[in-house]
Amino acid sequence: MVNSEENFDIKNLTTFKIGGKIKNVYFPTSIEEFEKILKENKNIKVFGNLSNTLISTDGYDGAIVLTTKMNKISISAQKVTADAGVKGPKLAQVVSEKGLSGLEFMIGFPGSIGGEVYMNASANSQAISDTLVSAICYDCQKGIVKYSKSEMEFDYRKSRCQRENLIVLSAEFELESKNCEDIKNKMSENLEFRKNHQPSLVLPNCGSIFRNPEGNSAGRLLDAIEAKTFKSGGARVWENHANFIVNNDNATSFDVLNLMYMMYTKVKESYNIELEPEIVFLGGNNEKENELWQRLNKK
Ligand SMILES: Cc1cc2nc3c(=O)[nH]c(=O)nc-3n(C[C@H](O)[C@H](O)[C@H](O)COP(=O)(O)OP(=O)(O)OC[C@H]3O[C@@H](n4cnc5c(N)ncnc54)[C@H](O)[C@@H]3O)c2cc1C
Repeated sequence: MVNSEENFDIKNLTTFKIGGKIKNVYFPTSIEEFEKILKENKNIKVFGNLSNTLISTDGYDGAIVLTTKMNKISISAQKVTADAGVKGPKLAQVVSEKGLSGLEFMIGFPGSIGGEVYMNASANSQAISDTLVSAICYDCQKGIVKYSKSEMEFDYRKSRCQRENLIVLSAEFELESKNCEDIKNKMSENLEFRKNHQPSLVLPNCGSIFRNPEGNSAGRLLDAIEAKTFKSGGARVWENHANFIVNNDNATSFDVLNLMYMMYTKVKESYNIELEPEIVFLGGNNEKENELWQRLNKK
């Protein structure tokens, strides 16, 4: 029997601390359970650690899967396999203790392996696509498929998963043997860098809000339009980096979407550049929110 919850209050599981009730949430604990849910619920939405997702305060009247209980890690020499729900910082820590290098960047942000493969997460000059050998995915037409790194079609914040609605079940990496101390030093440097460049989760947030436009920086464009002074309801732009929104005071999803639209509009008016959201929105029946999201994604 797969663990599931009805009318599940999701807010506290999101790094933004925003979101209403979800009609049905499945928590698989193994690949077999996960596959069964995916077979029985065609096109069900799957999330990991909800660190890049804004969920409507009005909730979602459907079913989702959360991979938080899919936590298996296996290591054989330099090959490491991690289930979709393994948290990046945990994996970085475990492999560092075995003297394996290549995932030091994961220490600094709260994604799951599935979410990181889906988004091709990167930081501090490393990307998940650098060391990934293959990913086991679920395709709702073909069932379980295994794709090599080149077949995953990685690009900046993009992978084949987005185009084909593939669900990541697990990923395999090939890492480099290095001195444990050097690996730990690199992770400490990454954490130190973050202190000044990204808000800690004490200020609830969901990472970078917009993707960098080609050859440009969303943060720099937003800085130039003085976005750091913008706010909407309980949400405001972070004072140290203009591409972050923080939930300052019980913000709602509408506050965030409205603020995003203010940022988007001002950049468009000033530079004729249409910023594209990096975050994902799980909307409900709130028409105002859905309309704002559509406008933000019309590119
Ligand atoms: C403080 C902070 C700092 C951050 N810094 C960075 C950074 O430096 N670099 C960076 O790249 N990101 C960063 N992020 C964003 C975020 O952590 C990453 O995008 C991460 O990859 C999201 O993983 P998740 O499990 O939380 O995804 P979720 O938010 O749960 O989901 C995001 C998307 O991934 C999809 N997804 C999740 N799991 C799966 C799966 N198993 N199969 C298929 N699709 C799936 C979801 O459907 C959704 O579309 C940061 C976030 C925060 C809060």
